[in-house]
Amino acid sequence: MDCIFCNITKGAIPADILHRDDDVMAFKDINPKAPVHILIIPIKHIETVLDLSDEDNALIGKMVMVANQLAEKEGIDENGFRLVFNCREHGGQEVYHLHLHLMGGRSFRWPPG
Ligand code: 5GP
Ligand code: ZN
Repeated sequence: MDCIFCNITKGAIPADILHRDDDVMAFKDINPKAPVHILIIPIKHIETVLDLSDEDNALIGKMVMVANQLAEKEGIDENGFRLVFNCREHGGQEVYHLHLHLMGGRSFRWPPG
């Protein structure tokens, strides 16, 4: 299986890594859509949010906690930020390895386009 984000977890593709532990990794988006645009991913390959099971509850919780920590580190916690999971075609998902977008440093419209 040739997965871009699995290759990033293995170090086969370089990335600007901001966090790494046994379960979760975070790195800068290569094509940022905001002044701060970070992707938080599980180390294990999960395609979409639909592929999560009960045993992943702690993993998802950890991804959100890492996002919070990075938001504080990047100084976007006070003004706020957006956390997004895109799922499949209508969600605009391009990479089929689960990732949480942490975006901030500007304001966003609602609803998104
Ligand atoms: P999606 O549309 O699947 O929710 O978001 C995928 C994101 O991954 C996009 O924002 C895209 O810029 C980012 N991305 C795609 N390939 C790479 C890569 O090789 N390295 C990094 N750092 N980000 C990537
Ligand atoms: Zn993968």
